[in-house]
Parts: sequence; C-alpha cells; structure tokens
Amino acid sequence: MKISRRHLLKIASIGAVVVGMMPRVAFAARNAIKSMRTGVQPGGKTRLVIETSSRPSYTLVYGEKTLTVKLSNTVADESITAKLASGTIVKSISQVQVGDALNIVVNLTKNINEIPKNQIMILEPNGDNDYRLVLDFSASSSSGKAAITTAGEDGKNEKKRIIVIDAGHGGKDPGCIGKGGTKEKTVVLSVAQKLRTALRNEGFSVFMTRNDDTYLKLADRAAIAEKKKADLFLSIHANANPSRSMKGFSIYTLSEKASDEEAQKLADAENAADKIDVNGFEQFSKDIRIALSSLQQHAVAEMSEEYANGCARAFNRGGIEQQPGPAVRHAPLAVLRSTVPGALIECGHLSNAAEEKLLKNSAHQDKLVTAIVKSIKNYDFDV
Ligand SMILES: [Zn+2]
Repeated sequence: MKISRRHLLKIASIGAVVVGMMPRVAFAARNAIKSMRTGVQPGGKTRLVIETSSRPSYTLVYGEKTLTVKLSNTVADESITAKLASGTIVKSISQVQVGDALNIVVNLTKNINEIPKNQIMILEPNGDNDYRLVLDFSASSSSGKAAITTAGEDGKNEKKRIIVIDAGHGGKDPGCIGKGGTKEKTVVLSVAQKLRTALRNEGFSVFMTRNDDTYLKLADRAAIAEKKKADLFLSIHANANPSRSMKGFSIYTLSEKASDEEAQKLADAENAADKIDVNGFEQFSKDIRIALSSLQQHAVAEMSEEYANGCARAFNRGGIEQQPGPAVRHAPLAVLRSTVPGALIECGHLSNAAEEKLLKNSAHQDKLVTAIVKSIKNYDFDV
C-alpha cells in the first residue's frame, strides 16, 4: 500500500490538540458545525452526514481504521455529539480543533478505501437543514490495510487513473455517413485509437469498448466503464445535420431531458442503434442493473459537467471549430447512463464537406486528440 506525500503532510498535521485548548477569539467568520450523523445505505454502505452553517471546505485523510474529515476555518462545538445509527462501520466520532481547522475524526471498525468522488456530496441548505457534507463508504475488501497511497522517491504519487474510450457505432451500425462516403464508425475508431496511445503515454490506464469494426450495444459500452471502475468515460462520435453548412464540435453530458430540440434529435439518432426511445430509457437502466441513488446521479452529473466544460475549453484553445450555440449540451444518451462521469464528444460534422475532409485527416485527428488529452490532464479527478 502506498502513502502519498500529500497524505503524509495531512496526517502529520493532525496533532492531538484537544477541543478547548485553542483560543477561539482569534478567528473570525468561521464555519460552525451543526450536526453529525450516520446511517445505513442500500448495499450496507455507511453514510456520514456532517452539517455546517456555511459551505464546507474539506479534505479527507485516511488512516488505520480512521477517517478524518478536515474542515477548514471551522470551529468545534462540544455540545454537538454525533448521532450514530447501528449497523454502520462507524464506532465513534470526535472533534479535534487544529488551528483554525476542525478535524472530525471518525473511528471505524474496519479500514476503508479512498472514497470515490461520486460518493461524496455537498448538499445545499433546504428546509430545516443547513449545508451537508455527505460521504458514503464501506469496509475495504482487502482486509487489514488502509487505503492510503504511497509516495515514491520522485514524489509521483498519483493513482493511475482509468479512462474508458468508446468509439461510437461499429459493425452493422455505421453511424452517420458523409457525402464523400466517410463512415462515422471508421473515423471515430481512428481518433479513439490515437487517443488511447496518447493517454497511455501520459500514464493513464486506458481501455477501449471496441478496438475493431464490431457492433456493441450501448448498455454493454456503459457496462465496460462500470466493470473497469473507470474514472472517466468518453464516447467519441461525429455528427450529421440536415443542413450541409452546419459545422463544428459539441460535447454532450447525460440528462433525462434534452437541453434543446437539437440535443433531443441527436440523442434519438445516437440511441437509435439500440432502438432506445424515451420510454425505453428506464428499461435500459434496469437492464444494466445500475442502482444509482439520486445523490450519486447528482454527483456524477456535476463531475461530467465539469469535465465537459473543460473539454470544450480545450477544443476552443486548440483551434477546433465549435458548432454555433452552447459548446456543452445535455441529452438522454443511453451510452452515458452509468455511475462513471463522462461525456459524448461530437468531434465535428461529417455532413459538412470541409469537415468530412478534416475528420479523415490524420493531422486533424491528432489535433482533436491533443485537445482531449489536455482536457483530461486538466480535469480534477480528486475531490
Ligand atoms: Zn454517433
């Protein structure tokens, strides 16, 4: 098991300074702790909820059977004791003031793995509740070891991120076809393969949903992302429009409702391969047996949005023409229906003669790949 330098720094800074020993007068405009509670989630997961008066800024530190939630600029309140539900892996929770940070030290009966970003949420105040930091976790499968990552001598301590690349369409499904005969399935496979090489060179762990001209169901593509426990899923496509003058890229994230009429048309077209219509969408998610809590859906949507915006910026900076209108759109795209954050990238329009030529062109494909690699490197995988 590895311990990152960042983690070591954090661990070193958790001194045993007991609540009450620190002068409180010196700090102004602090966040205040309101409540702490645990609960049991479906699948036996433990949920920890920390309620604060303003939006919490936090870091997580993993130790031997402990999880420390470090809340910056927050003051301890001894009158608040945690309400602990039975059936969780939380044994006790204590508050430790360290300078102007409040460490919520969660003692566990078992070690846990690093909590994935999509299992962490900050909820806005509603009704009787203030801000809530919500963490879902369960005991790590490898017994006896904490999920801390180790620093190498060179300080390179980042976990290898897993990217799943999905080249759209394939086999019996050509996708859209340009006037010059260029098939979407061919162009996007070429871009996907170049992207795989470039990302591997950058140290990412990369998997492809397809690496040749084969047909794959949309649910199977999403399932690969799940199975590989991907950090990011990218579905690569090229677009077509009835107007042959329409040009440019656009990036899509998943939503149950399309952001505009064009987004709905695109979702219809991209979902058509599996004959998924709006009514079939619910069945589809049942088929891939992903029990997404609304909390997780929200977190995945936020992360996908963050990625998509960064990707659009990278395309803009890379001098790749953007389709008129918003660069990031939303649509009920079946392939994005999973617990893995991700986006569907429409690299350009095959229905436009000039862009058809570009999309076939190896140098232009490299340009697309460079922009996507930049967007992934700039994406904040950590909380
Ligand atoms: Zn497509």
